[in-house]
Amino acid sequence: LNGEADIADVAIIGAGAAGLMAAIWTGRTAPGRRIVALDGAKRPGAKILVAGGGRCNVTHDVVDEMAYAGSTRPAIRKVLGRFDVARTVAFFREIGVELKREETGKLFPVTDDAYTVLEALLGAAQRAGAELVHPWRVDRVERVDGGFAVVPVEGVPMRARQVILATGGMALPRSGSDGHGYAIARSLGHSITERVFPALVPLTLPKGHFICALSGIAAPATLELREASGKRIVSFAGPLLCTHFGISGPAVMDISRYYLEAPGRVLVVNWLPAMTREALDGELMRVGARGVGRFLGDRLPERLALALCAEAGVDAGTAGHSLTREQRRMVAACACEMALPVTGDRGFTFAEATAGGVPLSEVRLENMESRICPGLHLCGEILDVDGRIGGYNFQWAWASGYTAGISAGSALN
Ligand SMILES: Cc1cc2nc3c(=O)[nH]c(=O)nc-3n(C[C@H](O)[C@H](O)[C@H](O)COP(=O)(O)OP(=O)(O)OC[C@H]3O[C@@H](n4cnc5c(N)ncnc54)[C@H](O)[C@@H]3O)c2cc1C
Repeated sequence: LNGEADIADVAIIGAGAAGLMAAIWTGRTAPGRRIVALDGAKRPGAKILVAGGGRCNVTHDVVDEMAYAGSTRPAIRKVLGRFDVARTVAFFREIGVELKREETGKLFPVTDDAYTVLEALLGAAQRAGAELVHPWRVDRVERVDGGFAVVPVEGVPMRARQVILATGGMALPRSGSDGHGYAIARSLGHSITERVFPALVPLTLPKGHFICALSGIAAPATLELREASGKRIVSFAGPLLCTHFGISGPAVMDISRYYLEAPGRVLVVNWLPAMTREALDGELMRVGARGVGRFLGDRLPERLALALCAEAGVDAGTAGHSLTREQRRMVAACACEMALPVTGDRGFTFAEATAGGVPLSEVRLENMESRICPGLHLCGEILDVDGRIGGYNFQWAWASGYTAGISAGSALN
């Protein structure tokens, strides 16, 4: 770096949710300093715009560490506690975004428009004195005397006293978050978890599985994940969407990271969440002259009801009182405890989050500063933290971005 270099006090790499939050709070903490947020994307904020179906599910009414996985929950809790939901709501109100709570507990902007959120964050960053420079893709970061050299893929490097790494994970790579941040973190001495894999991702079933033929049908269901031994690991309830490739919908997305986390786990669906297998068996004994297909059809989409009868090897027209004990057992097993032969997942292109990343044990939780590389802060999805569907991933970005920003700003003062 003997030649030309641009100079900043703090360089923030990545201007997504976490990076913008960090830029705002760095700027607010260190007025008059040069804070630059660099982003490789032509239009930063892509994920904020696509989030929540274009409405941006900013956070959730109730956020605690149990909604997250990855690095240890007590560590996640500490960071979440630095900027909780009440502060998030107040912060967005202050920058002009009023949030409303929906029945599910999810919080959205009252405008139902993700642009409101992105524009407010960009405006707040600007008012805080942070510059946004894009497209400016960072190739590498080097330690130099008194700080860092941030080297772009093209153009003149930037020197900065402090760096905040907020490059996200690998979900939706076309948005610009393609995992290059991991290489940057590694080059500065950090490790990355042994596995980095899609979280909140639809799952695939074998071609020709009956569910694929029901593409478009959605039904409320409970999904349970079990060890091969039968031990229950976790369960999620919600609409299950049948698709041409397999299964999707919130419960599937939520359970996906636990399924993918370890081999040999078994995913079991209950299409009648209010009933156990035993209870359904009992009910079927009382169905009388009605056909079993009809009985299930009263509780499920008809095509699904018929398909479940077929899977059980029972003619849907069979009257309840004519069912043999074995037939009842088969219907109850298919409806309430059907193991799904998952073949894989739809990959990062269709994932909403990333499992794995930089372990939280490598950052100081009180300020998100690296324990390995002083002057470097990390925040957002690059860290080994992933949340459920419902606004939890953004809440992680707000809380960790806030904490990193305050710390990087304070370090200048
Ligand atoms: C389709 C979809 C819907 C979602 N919906 C929701 C939702 O409703 N609620 C919720 O809580 N979460 C949602 N999420 C998850 C949420 O969007 C992410 O967890 C969150 O955006 C992570 O923030 P981040 O700032 O860490 O990373 P990102 O938002 O991924 O931002 C990282 C930024 O870094 C930039 N970058 C990466 N590498 C470089 C580099 N080398 N040089 C320069 N810049 C770089 C990227 O261009 C990007 O702008 C959704 C995700 C997806 C994909």
